[in-house]
Amino acid sequence: MLKSHACGELRTTHVGRVVTLAGWVNRRRDHGGLVFIDLRDRSGVVQVVANPDVGVEAHTEAQRARSEYVVQVRGVVEPRPKGLINPDIPTGRVEVLAHELKILNPAKTPPFYIYDDSPVDESLRLRYRYLDLRRQRMQHNLVLRHRVVKYIRDFLDARGFVEIETPILFKTTPEGARDYLVPSRVHPGEFYALPQSPQQLKQLLMVAGYERYFQIARCFRDEDQRGDRQPEFTQLDLEMSFVERGDVMGLIEEMMIGIVETCSDRKLLAKPFPRLTYRDAMERFGTDRPDLRFGMEVVDASDVVAASDFGIFSKTVAAGGKVKGIRVPECGSYSRRQVDELAELARQEGAKGLAWLALGEDGEVRSSFAKYLTDDETAALLERMKAGPGDLLLFVADRPRTANEVLGGLRLELGERLGMRDERELAFCWVVDFPLFEWDEEDQRWDPSHHLFTAPMLYDVPLLETDPGAARGQQYDLVCNGEEIAGGSIRIHKREVQEKVFELIGLDVAVAQERFGHMLEAFEYGTPPHGGIAPGIDRLVMLLAGEPNIREVIAFPKTQQAADLMAGAPSPADPKQLEELHIRIVDDA
Ligand code: ASP
Repeated sequence: MLKSHACGELRTTHVGRVVTLAGWVNRRRDHGGLVFIDLRDRSGVVQVVANPDVGVEAHTEAQRARSEYVVQVRGVVEPRPKGLINPDIPTGRVEVLAHELKILNPAKTPPFYIYDDSPVDESLRLRYRYLDLRRQRMQHNLVLRHRVVKYIRDFLDARGFVEIETPILFKTTPEGARDYLVPSRVHPGEFYALPQSPQQLKQLLMVAGYERYFQIARCFRDEDQRGDRQPEFTQLDLEMSFVERGDVMGLIEEMMIGIVETCSDRKLLAKPFPRLTYRDAMERFGTDRPDLRFGMEVVDASDVVAASDFGIFSKTVAAGGKVKGIRVPECGSYSRRQVDELAELARQEGAKGLAWLALGEDGEVRSSFAKYLTDDETAALLERMKAGPGDLLLFVADRPRTANEVLGGLRLELGERLGMRDERELAFCWVVDFPLFEWDEEDQRWDPSHHLFTAPMLYDVPLLETDPGAARGQQYDLVCNGEEIAGGSIRIHKREVQEKVFELIGLDVAVAQERFGHMLEAFEYGTPPHGGIAPGIDRLVMLLAGEPNIREVIAFPKTQQAADLMAGAPSPADPKQLEELHIRIVDDA
């Protein structure tokens, strides 16, 4: 080793020792006589002092050194003089007096500071990702990620799971996105598809009798990069045989609690994790990914205002719609302009308008609609909303789904404004009893709400014939702070049921056979009941690290446009390569 100690490990117990360190110049300060170098390696930073009276050459070299030069230092650990102790860093009580200092490699001036985490334009960070990854924030995130994955491996190993790798070059294994295709050189005109998840393969491993499988798996989905997505991402892929949904959920819950409590300093708000039905989640939070760090639930007030003289309310209810509302604390003093802004937001989310009622601290009522209500109606409405002085009530009258979703959106926005979405808190919950299908208006067919292989609830199997829209799936989602962290299900393990689902989603028999024939065939060779789940590692680590997006916890992420700015990918291919792959580029510009 070119070093005897790590920079960050030196303490007063090392005083008097001769140490050899190697790392990067974090900062250098030339005080005429003395040169101070903050030397950094992965473990941390320690102060090195070059004093010409101690080492003339070391001092000359230290004068030449610049930020991010790679240097090696041999010296003696000394206590820092009293007034010069730095309580902010773990090595702040000592410094290393340099006897020898060697520049191992100079460095160009980096395009941004490495030593502090001041904001830098993201494309610059991605262009020089190897420099960005030197920064403390990223080092912390990637080490945290390592810890989480290690925890997962140990946890599952101790419970009899086997980690098995599955192929990247495979056949379409759809999760509702577009496939990435890889042309075959050997089979002209044919393609592999990169797996959107190892879904089929893990089910086949259950057919194969492994009973408990997992993998830290890379998944590939060619989606339009809206929101916080990456073309490739990592999930903990897991499958178990002879289980019911509670078994999978219980295992994952125990693992998640362990991860949070062992690997992070985040606060878990509720243990065990609350379980909500899909319906409940939609009704009370307007989304199937509720953020349970705060209340402000969506409340149904339809019955209270159904007979009122406020036409928008009464007509909506008469037409089968709903009048729903949220109670926003501390916002009763919102000005007209502030409320109008919220109404604009509601319209963007799909509402026709926003009705409101503000209660001053003295109980004074301002409202867009109260004048049409009788005193009794208003009182009943306030009671339904559990409203008190200082509250702002917001109402949407619309189709049930729209009312829920719009208020769900406002709830998040106002929760954010009121500081109720504290990133140090984690509120996990399970959402269950999803509908098995959603109706696709455009293509006039059913779409699986999870994926093709999710089993219907046992009682609901007959509904596949009579009323598919009413069938619920044996699906479960794990949600945390409004983010979907994992989705899984008990699977179909009978050929007839699987074929019925293919039929309902409009998969032609021949196409189903071509794409999934191997699955159908396997189901005939003794397939155990099985189920699984797949927590997203990127999103989980993002929450644990308190980061705003998953790029911050991925070493080499792509941009929103699915590009790698550092290496310049994607890029044109060599004509010779294209020829070998039997590909001709058509310029459709
Ligand atoms: N394959 C599913 C997914 O990627 C997870 C699962 O059902 O296990 O979302």
